[in-house]
Amino acid sequence: FRQARREAAAGPVRTRDGHPLRLLANLACAEEAEGAFRAGAQGVGLLRTELLFLDRREAPSVAAQAEAYGRVLRAADGRPVVLRLLDAGGDKPLPFLPLPREANPFLGRRGVRWYPQHAGLVRAQVAAALGAGPGELRLMVPMVADPEELAWVRALVAEEAARLGRPAPPVGMMVEVPAAALNLRAFGAADFFSVGTNDLLQYLFAEDRNEPALARRDRAWHPAALRVLAGLVRDAAALGKEVSLCGELASDPRLLPLLAGLGFRSLSVAPAALPALAEAAARLELPACRTLADQALEADGPGAVEALLEAFVPAAP
Ligand code: PEP
Ligand code: MG
Repeated sequence: FRQARREAAAGPVRTRDGHPLRLLANLACAEEAEGAFRAGAQGVGLLRTELLFLDRREAPSVAAQAEAYGRVLRAADGRPVVLRLLDAGGDKPLPFLPLPREANPFLGRRGVRWYPQHAGLVRAQVAAALGAGPGELRLMVPMVADPEELAWVRALVAEEAARLGRPAPPVGMMVEVPAAALNLRAFGAADFFSVGTNDLLQYLFAEDRNEPALARRDRAWHPAALRVLAGLVRDAAALGKEVSLCGELASDPRLLPLLAGLGFRSLSVAPAALPALAEAAARLELPACRTLADQALEADGPGAVEALLEAFVPAAP
């Protein structure tokens, strides 16, 4: 990162005992970018690009995409922007993308899985992103389960960069398929990781993320989930790669001590959640957070973790 200066300008977020915590923004569209930086974002941890495509009968042109991505890069003004390549399928069908009917779309061809059949669309998106600069662009691949899927995208990005005579940006991946989460060390080719707990929890607990009858907030602090998260931090560190967390659970300030204690130093959340998180971070001391996380990892159910969270008293501001 070439961002120390930028963070200083945005006001770095530190725990009470002085450890930096990077708070990034999740954006659903380019129009949200300026507001996110006004709210204190230190970068964009997840630019969901689906919205640009959602209401269209045809794919947007390379120029239209480049304009949208350029707007985010301009607002970021040198801070990093993680652009997630198309994550269609599952809960995000695209009208112009003729994905086959499937009995279980969440277990079907979603995310990176359909890229080889629609390589032109992916290539156009990568070309638009590469042409949108200047800025600290990074590309992120959704729904990766196997290293081959990441390798396929990396090769395409390298080809497009060579064709356009531009440097290839870092290419990272969402960690949202349990098999990838439990086998992170096979993904040394990734430049960075971002944990998508919305899907990771859905697949870990075999519960549709959009089914109200199954909605249980306490999945976020279930020891089974926490053990997977702890393993991710450990394995990313072993690979020397940065790991961020961009699922919805990161926006709950109550969970911040737990996430910090597990070792997360970078979170990406909806812009509206940034100020409360920054405030909560300023009250944390890492040794107490680590103790909390260690105890939670030993718990036998979410109820016991919830009791630990309730008993946890952050330091005075
Ligand atoms: C996730 O899966 O946690 C995530 C951040 O991506 P999305 O919600 O867009 O699937
Ligand atoms: Mg996801």
